[in-house]
Amino acid sequence: MKRIFFTAAALCGIFLFSCDENKEKEQDLSVEIEQPAPDFEYVLDQFADLRVLRYRIPGWDQLDLQQQKLVYYLAQAGLEGRDIMWDQNYRHNLTIRKALENIYRNYSGDRNSDNWKNFEIYLKRIWFSNGIHHHYSNDKIKPEFSEDYLNELLSDTGTKLEGEAFEVIFNDKDAKKVDRQRGADNVLNSAVNFYGPDVTDADVESFYAAKKSPDPDKPLALGLNSKLVKKDGKLVEEIYKSGGLYGEAIDKIIGWLEKAQGVAENKAQGDAIGLLIEYYKTGDLQTWDDYNIAWTQATEGNIDYINGFIEVYNDPVGYRGSFESIVQITDFDMSEKMAVLSENAQWFEDNSPIMDEHRKKDVVGISYKVVTVASGAGDASPSFPIEVNLPNSNWIRAAVGSKSISLGNIIDSYENAGSVDRLKEFIRDSTELELELKYGNEADKLHTALHEVVGHASGQLNPGVGETKETLRSYASTLEEGRADLVGLYYLYSPKLQELGLVDDWKKNGMAAYNGYIRNGLMLQLIRLNLGDDIEQSHMRNRQWVSAWVYEKGKEDNVIEKVVENGKTYFVINDYEKLRDLFGELLRETQRIKSEGDYEAVEKLVETYGVKVDQEIHAEVLKRNEQFEAAPYSGFANPFIIPKTDENGEITGFEIRQPESFEEEMLYYSETYGNL
Ligand SMILES: [Zn+2]
Repeated sequence: MKRIFFTAAALCGIFLFSCDENKEKEQDLSVEIEQPAPDFEYVLDQFADLRVLRYRIPGWDQLDLQQQKLVYYLAQAGLEGRDIMWDQNYRHNLTIRKALENIYRNYSGDRNSDNWKNFEIYLKRIWFSNGIHHHYSNDKIKPEFSEDYLNELLSDTGTKLEGEAFEVIFNDKDAKKVDRQRGADNVLNSAVNFYGPDVTDADVESFYAAKKSPDPDKPLALGLNSKLVKKDGKLVEEIYKSGGLYGEAIDKIIGWLEKAQGVAENKAQGDAIGLLIEYYKTGDLQTWDDYNIAWTQATEGNIDYINGFIEVYNDPVGYRGSFESIVQITDFDMSEKMAVLSENAQWFEDNSPIMDEHRKKDVVGISYKVVTVASGAGDASPSFPIEVNLPNSNWIRAAVGSKSISLGNIIDSYENAGSVDRLKEFIRDSTELELELKYGNEADKLHTALHEVVGHASGQLNPGVGETKETLRSYASTLEEGRADLVGLYYLYSPKLQELGLVDDWKKNGMAAYNGYIRNGLMLQLIRLNLGDDIEQSHMRNRQWVSAWVYEKGKEDNVIEKVVENGKTYFVINDYEKLRDLFGELLRETQRIKSEGDYEAVEKLVETYGVKVDQEIHAEVLKRNEQFEAAPYSGFANPFIIPKTDENGEITGFEIRQPESFEEEMLYYSETYGNL
């Protein structure tokens, strides 16, 4: 569902995978060099490899008071679940956070020393990642201060942090939040807190093999809202629900949802919220599906939201959902434009290069919306996705459709906080730069739209073939994202887009899109990776396997040429037509892999092209990138939505206030929503 970091679209999956990365900004930076409004400071903070941005809520004043209340209640319902995400990420996260925050508030010693600054950076980093593992790489964050120094801080402030929770900050234990290494026991080796410490891959497999959904055509999202543990040698699920695991936080969520239900914009929206409440009370997965159907069908109104255990990226075997919430307001202008793609989805399906037996006769219920975000929490914050596509359940998507949204004000914020200098470094000539500056932004947006609206909806599984998480296992996510990217790429260089009024010059737009994708997939995205590391993140993998595959297959015809000038490498596209054909060829093959559930083929594709990095190029990219200060990852600090009340306590209006600092917001959240 959601997740795309800034690159070309990547997002969600029809198959339980959403795509919410943050899309790599690098690419979007490219956009027109708009000057940020002088009255608004986008960059709130920058530390380590992270940048915290602010965002505005442009549609707020157009909402009436009841709608504003709805936004506020839903935002509160999301924030109340913040601690759940922390605990899901790692069993010691909350203990560590509480101790470090206590130090931060009370330390009376020198706050100008290097040690203190490093302590502060460490705390900010874990705030950003909702825990002690990097939000993107999954590696445990290494502190730049010593055990002795931390002990000093603890004793100065009378704070307790002992045993394993203290030791793991410094040792090598639980080094990866999510372990996806081939051949390893991924469940056992992952630090994420979805499974008991002694639960293995084989345990999970056998546990769920024995569980069957009552209706095999409507499979429940088994495992989505629970922790799987061993009790007396027996595997049991601890359900996230009122009275169950995380019940204290869930009760608070329910309280705000009840208020939200009372000010719903229409009956369908209110009924859906009612089902969500019911689900939180019971933990029943049938109710979760009922809710998702009601939520998907509730399309009227200006306000929508996401709230629940949704994306399964943080589970190495893809069962358990991380808590997240986003509250959003419709952006009507952009949405109308995107609706055009939706209306023509069948044309795209009919003209796709996939095999006939994999083609959908009727593409159902595709919707695409650009929205303005008003608040985010859990997995969606501070590192926001820029795209969301839900629900994840495959059968619901097929039967009733899905909602696909692009987070417009978040994207704007990324773009306005960016710099074009890095782009210039990695672009070879002025023609390409001009194309990028003039068309890059539009091309990116269109790619995202095509990826979501057309890409994830396209194609069908062969009869009798299981969900991709069963057939393609750990490669399911990257295959799905690559496939959706390819659908987008195939159509980005096509006169159809101009015919539909979506672009002014389809060729130039398409060229900018291809340049950007290849530049990112073969080079630029490597700035996010340490030299010597393999690529593990699903979207990064897919961008590389798509790019590297077409590069290799087109070598003979010199479709993409590797040029080295003054010691700088560039990948230059010589033949856009042929490149489009190659994208089409790869699309056909990835759809075949998905439709047939061909594990051997996906393993070969991803391991050959998507995992290993050309060390020479990587070293060069890192070197060329050194001169730029902007951190590779961005996240967002929510504006505060503050109610104004009359003497009876009735809400009469709201003030929107931007946070003064990242720490102000994080400390406020921990105090106000510290439910676990
Ligand atoms: Zn996707």
